[in-house]
Amino acid sequence: MPGFEVFGAEEKKEIMDVLDTGVLFRYEFGEQRQGIFKVREFEEKFAAHCGARYGQAVTSGTAALQVAMTALGIGPGDEVITQGFTFVATWEAIFAVGAVPVFTEVDETLNMDPADLEKKITPRTKLIIPVHMLGAQARIKEILAVADRHALPVLEDTAQAPGARLGGKALGSFGVCGTFSFDAVKTITTGEGGMVITNDATLWRRMSEYHDHGHDHVANPGGRGGEGRSFIGFNYRMMEIQGAIGLAQLAKLDDIVARQQQNKAALKEAAAHIPGVTFRTILDEQGDSASFLAFFLPDAEAAAKVNALLTANGAGAMAFGENTWHFYPKWEHLLAGSTLARSGWPFNDAKGKKRVVYDPDLLPKSAALMDRLLVYQVPVKLPEERLRQITEALNKAVNY
Ligand SMILES: *Cc1c(COP(=O)(O)O)cnc(C)c1O
Repeated sequence: MPGFEVFGAEEKKEIMDVLDTGVLFRYEFGEQRQGIFKVREFEEKFAAHCGARYGQAVTSGTAALQVAMTALGIGPGDEVITQGFTFVATWEAIFAVGAVPVFTEVDETLNMDPADLEKKITPRTKLIIPVHMLGAQARIKEILAVADRHALPVLEDTAQAPGARLGGKALGSFGVCGTFSFDAVKTITTGEGGMVITNDATLWRRMSEYHDHGHDHVANPGGRGGEGRSFIGFNYRMMEIQGAIGLAQLAKLDDIVARQQQNKAALKEAAAHIPGVTFRTILDEQGDSASFLAFFLPDAEAAAKVNALLTANGAGAMAFGENTWHFYPKWEHLLAGSTLARSGWPFNDAKGKKRVVYDPDLLPKSAALMDRLLVYQVPVKLPEERLRQITEALNKAVNY
């Protein structure tokens, strides 16, 4: 998964370009910057890599979600549907714009179940956010078909799947926009950072202006220029050093994916020997970013036994049924409605009246899947020795 594994001279060179000018800000500074615009270049190259027209860099993947939703006009009174297996950032951002998150089941793709999505649409639904979790494709075509039937936009949370594709088309480029994260553990990293891609010029202009205090970017598309503002904004600007690192990392993305695919294939072959094992549904193996290998055992007991053996032999897997970061029933603060706001917002309205309550048993189908799921993160660099250790651990788990 992580781009930090391949940090090298390329990142240093890009950073030095910036330090040599002394301009850390993405806009202005005329001659002093000597024509160096790293964030802008990163936006252009990242969007091109995804086959999209525009890229808008921001400070994080969470900010990317927030900026995109704001530019789409999402706010109080709206419901936004996402999946119950994702990182907390997806629904934090929904709350942050004033909307209420509604959660769907996932299926064996470990992503949004399109049939459950259709059931959860109400007259208040204004946006659908499928997440391409663990490096691979959601059923984006089915999801778009449901969305089209209800005339709803789709934003793809692609934080965990840069470089992944479906039928050759980049994930994040199917919906009206796609968001990405470059945080410290993502496939390519700028330490902190994010991006929104889109083909919609109006949406891009709104995101560009909103993320820069609402300053006019019409006179100079994608950059400052004019005076005045059309709407209130905020500050989510990426700095030049992040853009510089992003450029070096982006140049390595295809190679990262190729190496992960190779390593994943080796791990998968070893895991396939475990009786009763099945693998997560991957809609397009060629387009899998291969950041993770996810497999199911027949039941929760078998998964626990297998993982105990793997752990005892130095190759424990992640058990998402127990993971408190990524799965709905483990989000105790969401279920309890814990917030710092005196009114209880966003769980209560301004007068303290309940807006939403989350039932811990809302997603039984997802829970049944998570309980029998084991996951390995796939490294870019997998030394022979480590591969042998994992393979031997998997071989010892066959008699669980
Ligand atoms: C990492 C992540 C985010 C948020 O990204 P940050 O850059 O850490 O804010 C959003 N969604 C998903 C699915 C993620 O994994």
